[in-house]
Amino acid sequence: MKLRFCSLASGSSGNSYLVWTDTTAVVVDAGISGKKIQNGLEETGTQEILTGLLLTHEHVDHVKSVSTLAKRLPQMKVHATQGTWDNMEHTVSEEQRNILCEGEILTIGDLEVRVFALSHDAAQPVGYAFRHEGKQIAIVTDTGCYSEEILREAEEADLLVLEANHDVDMLRIGKYPWFLKQRVLSDVGHLSNEAAGNCLVELLKRRPKERLVCLAHLSRENNFPEMAYQTVKNILEDADYYIGNEVQLITLLRDGISGMCEL
Ligand SMILES: [Zn+2]
Ligand SMILES: [Zn+2]
Repeated sequence: MKLRFCSLASGSSGNSYLVWTDTTAVVVDAGISGKKIQNGLEETGTQEILTGLLLTHEHVDHVKSVSTLAKRLPQMKVHATQGTWDNMEHTVSEEQRNILCEGEILTIGDLEVRVFALSHDAAQPVGYAFRHEGKQIAIVTDTGCYSEEILREAEEADLLVLEANHDVDMLRIGKYPWFLKQRVLSDVGHLSNEAAGNCLVELLKRRPKERLVCLAHLSRENNFPEMAYQTVKNILEDADYYIGNEVQLITLLRDGISGMCEL
């Protein structure tokens, strides 16, 4: 049985990913309209097997349609940390709610889900790593730096969704107010293109294996897909890693299905 992934939307204006096997589907984050997510479920034929919505943190680009979706899909449980639950407005019923902890390993159908801490200015942000029959997917976005724990979770991933939020120079000279620039650049902000490239080199050094890397959560104001791709490619090549050998590299679309992959 295969482990599959696609992105429904990725970027600072809304995030939602889908991970599924033949019998179990989960949505990670609901930062776009419920309609768009349901369209994605229909297009991938996963509506019937959807059993979970996993939230990374309470920022609106990740939780916009949580209440709507929970109401429309009563069979679906919504998983989030206590900090995330406490800091978002929602109307999710008690029965549908599940509280997660960092370090927890969760079983949802035939998916094993590992929950790990991220470094972001939210109450209790987490990333997720999925395992199914020896294949792995890890999702690492909305983190200002990559910790040892993050590297450990991402190391084995056959498919890694990795944040490449901004180009540092574009952000510095751009029109964001000073406090926002400081926030994005901080250890609890977002990974830059350069940080994503360095993170990948570190992962390849630790564990040389073939992997697909989807650059994610690109900023509309402070990045371009080509720039994210090229910056990461250059950093990999400087370290003697080449796209097409160890790494397949793509950038996810802000809007619409992309990164469709079957492992
Ligand atoms: Zn965030
Ligand atoms: Zn975000």
